[in-house]
Parts: sequence; structure tokens; C-alpha cells
Amino acid sequence: MITRINQQISHLKKNSKFYKKQLNQFSRIDNVLSVKKLPFTTKDDITMHNSDFLCVPKNKVRDFITTSGTIGDPISFYLTQNDLKRLGINERNSFELCNIKKGNKVLLTTTLDKCFMAGLAYYLGSQELGVGIIRTGPGSLKYQWDMIERFKPEIIIAVPSFLLKMIRFAKDNNIDLSQCSLLKGICIGEPIRESNLQLNSLGKAISSDLNIKLYSTYASTEMMTAFTECDEGRGGHLQEDLLFVEVLDKNGIEVKDGDSGEVVITTLGVEAMPLLRYRTGDICTVYRAKCKCGRTSLRLGPVLGRKSQRLKVKGTTIFPSAIIEAVYAFKHVENFAIEVSLDEFDSDTLCLFVTDEFLQTSSLKEIKGFLKSKLLFTPEICVVENRIINDKIGINKTRKINRFIDNR
Ligand SMILES: [Zn+2]
Repeated sequence: MITRINQQISHLKKNSKFYKKQLNQFSRIDNVLSVKKLPFTTKDDITMHNSDFLCVPKNKVRDFITTSGTIGDPISFYLTQNDLKRLGINERNSFELCNIKKGNKVLLTTTLDKCFMAGLAYYLGSQELGVGIIRTGPGSLKYQWDMIERFKPEIIIAVPSFLLKMIRFAKDNNIDLSQCSLLKGICIGEPIRESNLQLNSLGKAISSDLNIKLYSTYASTEMMTAFTECDEGRGGHLQEDLLFVEVLDKNGIEVKDGDSGEVVITTLGVEAMPLLRYRTGDICTVYRAKCKCGRTSLRLGPVLGRKSQRLKVKGTTIFPSAIIEAVYAFKHVENFAIEVSLDEFDSDTLCLFVTDEFLQTSSLKEIKGFLKSKLLFTPEICVVENRIINDKIGINKTRKINRFIDNR
């Protein structure tokens, strides 16, 4: 572990414009405790100095990735050929944690394009392990069931709220769920468990109608690594060769076993864009005791909250500023409010409140299409009277207009 962290430090000092400055007085560390002396990296660092994080010449980049940034433009991530290999190994290990075997078939309902990482990672992992993949992507619900009927996959990879929509569609269209080939569901982007690791209402709603074993995952583009549950479903296992993780309280002290704190990650073996002590802002519970499956690697429970206003909507992590910016791209928008609340399954849902005027130059379909291209999901749009928006954003009540209302 220490050797791998030191390899990363020397790689960063040599090749990263950003870390060269940061790591001025550090050469190597002697033990895990001295990791704490190394500087943190924040999302704002990556946003503001995006290209300074790239450690290889651009012509060595084999895959370009984007994620929504906190301010302004999306953040770019880069992968070399070695990084793609590492990403595939990461997801092969994830499949193995779920007891998926060579020769199984997987329905992949997450997108493989749009500069997204998750779909690509699962695709590469399937090829590493020798699993057959059916790349339906986020297509229509009927199409998903047609492909399940045609190819009979045993595993589905899906955002859980999408899986629930598929189940509701099946029930409404007389598709016999008891005859369905699916046995396992790998859930990405949204939690399916409560903090006590029992299934949450979304997880329960899925498993009450579809008899499959659900596996929770926790991952991000920054980590280039996934935490995936084993059959025991007691938190996602850390892949110790690929990632070093700290779970810290607000004073930067490691929390006790079973307590929750901010997940701070250091990537291991990443070539193009390695990160050192990156503060994810995600709050998770950490489990360090040996798992019932026999593995001794650290486990993380579901994301309990965000340090800031970070939102996770339909599997996309986003900040209010990015949504406000996307809405402002419509020149004719006069007044609006964005409200976030928790739905019945404890997932964030967004509603954009606008007036009639908003719809005068573009149709609702065009607006939704535009927002989807910017945000990678479509918020609900409610057309209301101007005074209702004024009430929401606090006009006449406070000096500062707040277009983002957090009702969670
Ligand atoms: Zn386990």
C-alpha cells in the first residue's frame, strides 16, 4: 500500500503541474499515518486547474470523460490505455464480488457514450471477465423487456429508479415477472439501502415485485474505482490495489468503525489523472471488521448525505449552480425557481418552476431536450403564475434572491 502511494507521489511530482507545487516539501511517506500530512484535493481545485491535473501528453489519452462541474464548464477526465485496462480490472473485480461468472449475460441499461464513465467501465469489466453484455442503454422500457426476452440475461445493471420503472411497465403490460431470466441487479447512482444496511423503500419496492438479489455500488469518475457489495450486502468492498480511502470527521480525524464521515480517496495505479487525498464530499459509514464473506477489505455503507448542496438526480451528481446556469442559457427566461425534494424512495427530485412566458419561444419538448443535454437528466417542469415563483425565491422578503430551494 505505502509503496503504491509513494509511486503515485513520485509520478505526480514529476508529471502533474498542479501537484508539483502542492507536493513541494514532500518526497515520500513512511507509513499510513504520514498520509495525513499530505495536502487535500477538492473538486474546486480540479475545476479551476483542470488541465494541470493531466499527467501525460494529450496524444496518450485514449478516452475523454466529462462530469458536471461546481462552477461553469464540465470537468474533463482523461484515461490512457493503461487506465482503461485498470478500469476494466476494477469492474471485473466488481462482477466477481457479485459472484458473477464467466459466461453469464449482463443487460447494461446505462449509457456507453455521452463521455460517461460508468457504462464504459462495466463494458470493459465484462470483457475482462468474459461475460456477455447486452448494451441496451437507457432505451425505452419496452425495448429493455424485449431484449430480456430475446437474450435472457441473468444480470441487469441499472439506476434503481429506472429498474423500478421497468417493473411498473412490466406489470402494466402483462409481462410475467416470475418468468423473467434476471437473478441479480447491480444498482448504480442511487442508494438502495438505509444507513442500517437494510433495503430502503426503493430497494424494497424493486424486490417486492421482482425476485432478484440487489447489489449496491458506490463509485465516481474521480475514483475510477467502484465499491461493490458482495453476496452479504453489508456495504461496498474497497479494492485495496486500486484505491486508498480515508473516512474523516470534520476535523480531518479518521472516524471509528461503524461511524460516518467524509470519504477521501487517493487513486492507485492511475496514469493520466491520479488524485491525492481527494475530498469527495460524500458522507458514508465505514466498516472495517472482517465481512461475513471472509474478505478483510474496508466497506462503505450508502452515501448518507453531501457535505455541500451536492445533488444526485437519476444517477447524475450535480450542483445547483450548474442547473441554474443551464436554465439561464435560455435568453427569454424571466423568472424561475428550482426546488429539490426527496421522493418516496429518498432520491432527490428536481422541479423547475417557470411562467408561461418561458414556453413562448421554445416548446416544452425543446426545453426538456436542451436541459437533458446540459444536465444529463430532465427535471420536472411546472408552469405556474409569477407570484408563486416570487414567493419561492423570496422576492420582497429578503434582499438576496435564492433561486434554489432545498426541501430535503
Ligand atoms: Zn463481503
